[in-house]
Amino acid sequence: MTEFMAKLLQPPLRLASSSACSTNTELKLRFKASGDFVVSRRCEAGAPQSEAFSSYSSRTKSGGGSLRILIAGGGIGGLVLALAAKRRGYEVMVFEKDLSAVRGEGRHRGPIQLLSSALGLLQAIDHDVAQQVFQASCVTGDRINGLADGLSGHWFTKFDLFTPAVKRGLPVTRVICRMALQDILLNAVGPDIVFNNSKVVDFTQNSGKVPAVTVVLDDGQEYEGNVLVGADGIWSRVRSKLFGPDHANYSGYTCYSGLANFSPAYIDTIGYRVFLGLNQYFVASDVGHGKMQWYAFHKEPPMTSSSSKGNVIFYKKKRLLGLFANWCKEVTELITETPDNMILQRDIYDRDMIYTWGIGQVTLLGDAAHPMQPNLGQGGCMAIEDCYQLILELDKCAASSSADIQQCDEIVAALRRYERKRIFRVTAVHTASRMASKVLTAYQPYMEFRCDPLSYLSTLRIIKPSVHLARFFLQFFLPQFMTWMMCGGRSW
Ligand SMILES: Cc1cc2nc3c(=O)[nH]c(=O)nc-3n(C[C@H](O)[C@H](O)[C@H](O)COP(=O)(O)OP(=O)(O)OC[C@H]3O[C@@H](n4cnc5c(N)ncnc54)[C@H](O)[C@@H]3O)c2cc1C
Repeated sequence: MTEFMAKLLQPPLRLASSSACSTNTELKLRFKASGDFVVSRRCEAGAPQSEAFSSYSSRTKSGGGSLRILIAGGGIGGLVLALAAKRRGYEVMVFEKDLSAVRGEGRHRGPIQLLSSALGLLQAIDHDVAQQVFQASCVTGDRINGLADGLSGHWFTKFDLFTPAVKRGLPVTRVICRMALQDILLNAVGPDIVFNNSKVVDFTQNSGKVPAVTVVLDDGQEYEGNVLVGADGIWSRVRSKLFGPDHANYSGYTCYSGLANFSPAYIDTIGYRVFLGLNQYFVASDVGHGKMQWYAFHKEPPMTSSSSKGNVIFYKKKRLLGLFANWCKEVTELITETPDNMILQRDIYDRDMIYTWGIGQVTLLGDAAHPMQPNLGQGGCMAIEDCYQLILELDKCAASSSADIQQCDEIVAALRRYERKRIFRVTAVHTASRMASKVLTAYQPYMEFRCDPLSYLSTLRIIKPSVHLARFFLQFFLPQFMTWMMCGGRSW
């Protein structure tokens, strides 16, 4: 019996403290020869800062001229980058076109799942902020997570988000309300750094001059800096100015998301479950505080929006109950328990990967660089990893600059190194997110008997042999991929 199976058969291990694994374990980040971040396990009381971050922060502060980093966009990526830059003593300015859209202003924007690697890096960037995130979030990785049959509710495969994290001394996967996360980040970054109602509409690069980048806002104001980072999301203005406009791809799916004030009977044993079906799938996750978050993905043309069809609020719930009518109770009860006004809908887009993210002293991160489908819940995590790597490279530049960190060629080299080091991992996750969309919605497990005398056999739900094969393959492959994805892809 595998370690994971043994764990599943035990009574569920709910980590009483929401900061599971984080109070007595600590990340230790160091550089490898390649320069990529590596995390090694260190379980002990207290919370020392990571070696890499503390040493580089002091060098930067005492080093030559300080770098001014301009950031377009104050979403997860922009704010985490601003936090990391601030902690390292860089001068930083964030231009956000509409903070109320980021915060949701009363409209729930759904929680976000943060995997171990992203949490570990957040911890290394700012230990206090990570503690606040731990306290405001709900651990899901300590329970059973996996894929299930949408019709019967039976498990298809399970994956272990707990053991790989704990083995590496990383925090365990958790989910947090987006607004809570944004509030924590905003407070830590500070209102003097984040400029609201500041839409970036243009920028210019003055090669050879210091500072080298000028950002132009929609009210005509201009700001100069040494680096511009486009963290302005999937519809990035910085990206289109850098590389010209390109079209976003409609994934083929619209996504309904709902938040229910409801604690199902299985809440203590199951954290996160994806129910599979044909051309549609359903994700349910405990998000703490007696609430369940769910996402219903359905294949349909874009803009098949309910808002144009009369009674909007009623329509979404009614439509979903129709689409998932014959699905298992775990799915239908979540839809039923969700108030109409807590159901949102958005069409899902991504973009093809690009392998150059910057020119000169401008670069991209997060969704601006690599917008991906949300099937694996990885876009935000990848944005956090980007931030860490970017500051790491700028820190190296600060460390090696004998006189002036504002040296253009060194900054340019640091930005290109950051891009190179992120491309492989991000491309793999981006590809897997697209594949997951196809795999999750091609699920048609039962044999169909079309000719009359045998048609009654269809009702017996006899599983196709190919499904057993797929399950066998997934049970071997999925844990390895999940571990790579959630722990950072290094053999630490
Ligand atoms: C349904 C769904 C579920 C998801 N679940 C997860 C999950 O569980 N885990 C996970 O890790 N990821 C998840 N994601 C993905 C995640 O939401 C994104 O990848 C993440 O928000 C990207 O962060 P970002 O900062 O790069 O971009 P964004 O969050 O899009 O932020 C961009 C910011 O830039 C601002 N902006 C845009 N243009 C300008 C401009 N010209 N000037 C100034 N400001 C500008 C915007 O207002 C916005 O605040 C999910 C996505 C969806 C759609």
